[in-house]
Amino acid sequence: MLVISSPSGAGKSTIARNLLENDKALELSVSVTTRARRGSEIDGVHYHFVSHRDFERLRDTDALLEWAEVHGNYYGTPREPAEIALSEGRDMLFDIDWQGAKQLSEKIRADIVSIFILPPSMRELRSRLKRRAEDSDQVIETRLANARKEIEHWRDYDYVVINDDLDRAFGAVRSIVAAERLRRDRRPGLFDFVSDLLDDNSA
Ligand code: 5GP
Repeated sequence: MLVISSPSGAGKSTIARNLLENDKALELSVSVTTRARRGSEIDGVHYHFVSHRDFERLRDTDALLEWAEVHGNYYGTPREPAEIALSEGRDMLFDIDWQGAKQLSEKIRADIVSIFILPPSMRELRSRLKRRAEDSDQVIETRLANARKEIEHWRDYDYVVINDDLDRAFGAVRSIVAAERLRRDRRPGLFDFVSDLLDDNSA
């Protein structure tokens, strides 16, 4: 499970999108949310957009692996797709906030790698939120106020990437994924490979 969190506007969604486009072994966990759909978003691709009532039904029937209220809306991770991916050993990307990341690491005894993306400055964060121009001024102010609270949780993560340059930040995230995949304990096939290597008398 690859968990990526950041305050809104720090570039996490762009990094996540680039990662998914470049890494076909990684799939996105599509969250459910009660937030209104933005013009650029597609239902079922970016989120499953649901009513409050439907969200509560999912939450109360234990259909969510974790859930949280973020910026006044509910967000949650559907349990079934994540559990299937994990049981089949597939890598899944979770674009969730610190509350969700905390719940996953406490509740799920799974292999989690977590990355926190920081903006280079609060000024830059504000201008990115404004540039996105998909939210009202009031929504932008709420997100900025919440950014500080989100940033306070940076220590809960395995890795921290400062997004002062998108290409560089994306490169750092790819390096993390590549290195984590090379870890000995994540490579069950290695045992046989090394046994064969030791039996190989070809040299
Ligand atoms: P946005 O409304 O900008 O798409 O997302 C707002 C925040 O909610 C982001 O920090 C995003 O990572 C977080 N978020 C999205 N989906 C989930 C989810 O399923 N669970 C939790 N806990 N947070 C989520």
